[in-house]
Amino acid sequence: MMTIARPGRARRGVLFAAFLLLCLSLTVGIGAPTAQAAAAKPKFQMNFTTDDPSLAYTESMFREQFEEVYPKLVKRFNPDAPRTVTLQIKYVDGVASTDGAVTTISSSYMHSHNDLAGVYTHEFMHTVQAYPEYVVWLTEGIADYVRSVYGPKDDPWSLPATVTPEQSYKQGYGITARFLLWMEKHVRSTIVDDANRVLHAGTYSDDDFVTWTGQTLDYWWSYYVQHPEI
Ligand SMILES: [Zn+2]
Repeated sequence: MMTIARPGRARRGVLFAAFLLLCLSLTVGIGAPTAQAAAAKPKFQMNFTTDDPSLAYTESMFREQFEEVYPKLVKRFNPDAPRTVTLQIKYVDGVASTDGAVTTISSSYMHSHNDLAGVYTHEFMHTVQAYPEYVVWLTEGIADYVRSVYGPKDDPWSLPATVTPEQSYKQGYGITARFLLWMEKHVRSTIVDDANRVLHAGTYSDDDFVTWTGQTLDYWWSYYVQHPEI
């Protein structure tokens, strides 16, 4: 029985090896077009327009900031974000706004401020966010968190130096951004990515913070006010 069984096992071994090779070649065959598709993804592009010729010189500064930071934000926060964006400099009220992949920065603001690259970082983060619901405090807090982390390095803008008891995380922007940085450092290192994920999915609720950290936002805010060092 043993002399008959041995060749049988050997044949099964050969067949199994052949099967493995077939699987491998199928895997390679299926994998190849995917890799080609990834390689063919369009490059990041920024279109620039201005209705104020005296501000045309800012294009290279904006383009540099876009090329340096935007791909990093897409990779971290939303790989499906638009590859092509538009920046228009126009005479409008306010500082800047972003609608989808189109950012508008006020030309009158530009004439009197020197923190333009940082403003643009905040704005193109909104293109990356593309959240279905505008949870104002958290959306704006994350955009300012991104500005503080990704720069530019010489941004004259910065987060508040500390926090005061009458402030609230619900105020958004720099106040929330500083709180998020503190939570990232002291409570949960993935907190911003966690928040981004559920905001992007349109399922965010304040209770998510309890799920991630075991405590409410109000609890952490009170603790943060007592121990605000980052
Ligand atoms: Zn904003």
